[in-house]
Amino acid sequence: MDILTRRRFLEQLGAVGGSSLVFSAMTSWELMAGSAGQKPELSGRPAKSKVLVLGGGLSGMVVGYELGKLGYDYQVLEARDRVGGLQWAVKRGMEHTEVGGERQICAFDEGQYINAGPWRIPYSHEAVLNYCRELNVPVQVFLNESDANYFYVEGSAGPLSNKKVRLREIKADVTGQINELFVKALDQGKLDLPLTADDQKRISNYLIGQGYLDSNTRSYRAFENRGEGDPYALMDLLRGPFANRLRSVPAIEGTTAAPMFQPVGGMDQISRGFQRAMDAKRITFNAEVQKVLQSDTGVTVTYLDTKSKKPVEISADYVVLCMPLNLVARLDINISPELMAEVKAVNYSNSAKMGLQMKRRFWEEDDHIFGGHLYSNLPIGEFSYPSYDYFTKKGVLLGLYSNGPIGNLMDQPVAARVEHVLTHASKVHPQIRQEFESAYAVWWRKVKYNEGGYASGRNAERRARLSKADNRIVVGSAAVTPHSEPDWQEGAISAGWQALKFIHERAMRG
Ligand SMILES: Cc1cc2nc3c(=O)[nH]c(=O)nc-3n(C[C@H](O)[C@H](O)[C@H](O)COP(=O)(O)OP(=O)(O)OC[C@H]3O[C@@H](n4cnc5c(N)ncnc54)[C@H](O)[C@@H]3O)c2cc1C
Repeated sequence: MDILTRRRFLEQLGAVGGSSLVFSAMTSWELMAGSAGQKPELSGRPAKSKVLVLGGGLSGMVVGYELGKLGYDYQVLEARDRVGGLQWAVKRGMEHTEVGGERQICAFDEGQYINAGPWRIPYSHEAVLNYCRELNVPVQVFLNESDANYFYVEGSAGPLSNKKVRLREIKADVTGQINELFVKALDQGKLDLPLTADDQKRISNYLIGQGYLDSNTRSYRAFENRGEGDPYALMDLLRGPFANRLRSVPAIEGTTAAPMFQPVGGMDQISRGFQRAMDAKRITFNAEVQKVLQSDTGVTVTYLDTKSKKPVEISADYVVLCMPLNLVARLDINISPELMAEVKAVNYSNSAKMGLQMKRRFWEEDDHIFGGHLYSNLPIGEFSYPSYDYFTKKGVLLGLYSNGPIGNLMDQPVAARVEHVLTHASKVHPQIRQEFESAYAVWWRKVKYNEGGYASGRNAERRARLSKADNRIVVGSAAVTPHSEPDWQEGAISAGWQALKFIHERAMRG
């Protein structure tokens, strides 16, 4: 008996809606992610071995923490004055000066924040969530989808263009009309399936029981909970991007996973959890690594103490590189030309986010939207509503989240970027200008000590080549993850574990 799998369903949608529609649903970045694999079981105390971990982002914190558990003499060298790297919850008083000049100071109210980097954790990302448990990092639900949220497709969706369409309307109209077609085909015996009369009855009972079809007429009619108005035509919904967003279980859990989680108070709470669990002396802040020279007997690292402006030299047996590889490429470092060529080949995403503090949670009060996203083709990427502090007065919207260029927006002053977002977002939320209080814009290519977002590229062979230790130096940052993907924290943990295993096995051999 033929089974209507998700793939076949998408193929059938493709027959109706055009294959490009299916292509984008199946290959979307958003569907791709996996868990970090097995945490390595490492035992034994190494003879005296010192390890330097360069970079205190998530991968570096994992490596440092686990080295500590194994009894290593280790030191994490972090250029910033905080841990977490991309895990950055921007809060009141925080600041940064963009590479190229402009300085911002966050003016959000106390308690308000925006996750400028990672913001959501799929339930299947067990490594991240297990560390939250182990480190006592409180976690809450990240609301990824809500039926009241809007679609807004500018220009290209026929009769559904330039209007706010609720997700619940789309769900009801697509599912209802497809169920109606299916029941009609069943009733007329037109399904080419080996179904007994009882089977047919079971299927139609199930389809009617879903609640979209009138049990007498067996046809779909708009119903109260869908919202006011007539149903949209099925073909209009399938022609536009609407039906693609109807959630199903993705092959590998990604950004459509349900549920998703977030640490209470910001994603950096995870790295801060590691920091709390580590001896404070093991992390050196304001240590901008500039030079890494290895020999057969050890490695010497030179960093600039950015407070005293003095260079400091420190020696060890091994080094784990947990810095972004685009920055490793610029270090004075004696790794093999082959490894350096691989390092240079890694691209980092052109990611940007913008938080907008609002005087009033108008999306909750006026539109009954409680988290989740706006689905639009507006040039602001993803626009999302906060999943914390519900029913309070103020809130911070994610006004823009993109992973690619938006015209020349990146080169505009912050005020012009904010204006761009307000202009487009007000097409859906006209209240936004009046309620706007302050913004904080992060364009990762302009953020010192990252100069890019997440490592992109899914080439497993390249990752394996990058993972090969170069004598006493091994890469441990998310870019080399053997499981999950570099664009997930789960990948950063998996990469850290891999480096840890190499160091421990090598140190145990002596
Ligand atoms: C916009 C965005 C959204 C994302 N969304 C999600 C999400 O929702 N969920 C999810 O799970 N993942 C998400 N990710 C991916 C996740 O952020 C990464 O996989 C992970 O944080 C990478 O960790 P890392 O330790 O490898 O790198 P980083 O966090 O970049 O850490 C590198 C560290 O090296 C330090 N450093 C740099 N130069 C030097 C130097 N010279 N000397 C010393 N230290 C140095 C930096 O300061 C930094 O602390 C997102 C990423 C981005 C950019």
